[in-house]
Amino acid sequence: MQKPDCIFCKLANGEISTAMVYENDQIACFKDASPQAQTHVLIVPKQHYHDIEDLGRTAAGRDDAAAVLAAVPEIAAILGVGDSGYRVINNCGSGAGQTVFHVHFHLLSDPKLKDKLV
Ligand code: AMP
Ligand code: ZN
Repeated sequence: MQKPDCIFCKLANGEISTAMVYENDQIACFKDASPQAQTHVLIVPKQHYHDIEDLGRTAAGRDDAAAVLAAVPEIAAILGVGDSGYRVINNCGSGAGQTVFHVHFHLLSDPKLKDKLV
């Protein structure tokens, strides 16, 4: 189900145009509007989930989570970062920095990431 007035529901489902990198029937991947790395995209289920806890709560959510994981190597290849390496991050809750409450996974790639512990 989609949530009215949720910006990521609208972006993932094409109601608002965006720089789409990849999509299938379950998920979408588009460029982050405020990139924090040379490569910075967001991978988002087309259905609305508040956060990763919500995503893991139902069988449908876990299937969408699997669809995210299945698409990661393909998205990395499209972006040309499969060999150089990349990081996938989810922020859960405002205390961890979540600002958009439609679950999303950041995929980042940048040489500077190599020097960070996490
Ligand atoms: P988080 O802080 O983990 O909730 O991440 C939210 C991310 O969404 C941030 O990196 C924002 O730059 C990004 N963002 C917010 N609005 C948009 C938008 N309309 N299109 C693309 N990225 C967005
Ligand atoms: Zn949503």
